[in-house]
Amino acid sequence: MRANYHTHTTFCDGEQSPADMAQAARAAGFDALGFSSHAPFPAGMPWGVQPEALEAYAAEIRRLQKVWAGTMDIHLGMEIDWFPPEIRPADGSFDALGLDYTIGSVHLVGFEGVKAFTVDGPSADLEAGIAAAGGARRVYREYYRRLGELILDGGFDILGHFDLVKKNNAGNRLFDEESRDYLDAALEAVALLKDRDLVVEINTGAMARGKRDEPYPSLALLQEMRAQGVRITLSADAHCAAHLGARREAARALAEAAGYSSIAVLREGRWTESPLSGS
Ligand SMILES: [Zn+2]
Ligand SMILES: [Zn+2]
Repeated sequence: MRANYHTHTTFCDGEQSPADMAQAARAAGFDALGFSSHAPFPAGMPWGVQPEALEAYAAEIRRLQKVWAGTMDIHLGMEIDWFPPEIRPADGSFDALGLDYTIGSVHLVGFEGVKAFTVDGPSADLEAGIAAAGGARRVYREYYRRLGELILDGGFDILGHFDLVKKNNAGNRLFDEESRDYLDAALEAVALLKDRDLVVEINTGAMARGKRDEPYPSLALLQEMRAQGVRITLSADAHCAAHLGARREAARALAEAAGYSSIAVLREGRWTESPLSGS
């Protein structure tokens, strides 16, 4: 089953409408498409759905669900940030929308005395954050500390882009992803996944944007997840139609390299396994 549960549209920071994305997904051979608009953000952070548009968003995805019934499964989801106390997936803020699933993600890191910044925005933002934090080590450790908190707090189905902090770090330009210190920070968060019943995504978003030549998470982390029995899904993190299906073969190859032979798919409200070969 060819499924993608990580899709953005003009309701948040995506470039195309849900209807156009559904059309493109079907043309790219998808059997299932989940919409995961960014949840509304704290003031000053513009990329989420505007609170007053939430109901229209849900209504439009439900409409498409009917349009595509029998051809492609459409699911209503949301990507919810970990940025307590303002927002956390477990706080139930969007329960009234009757979402089919949610993605929990960390994009923002902040420190005492340092304004919160995104690790995956323009590289200059991350570099300024690193300078303000007094070094990259403090930033990646804080990123994984927050990711660990998100995992323990729960309230979501899919854990978004596990090692997003590496997005702007091609060629190890800001920190060494092979270093013991970096891997220890990441693996500490991986260890928290054990028995959590979360699905981790293999996410090709940075590849589709030409930012990295490998998906999230890196092979070393994925192998450890596999050893712990963590389930996976393959995600485009699509912000436009061209991202749908882009670099899908790289995601599949990574899953295979880590020893996976199946992926988790959403069927009648439950995450069930489907062969990787048909994904
Ligand atoms: Zn994200
Ligand atoms: Zn996303």
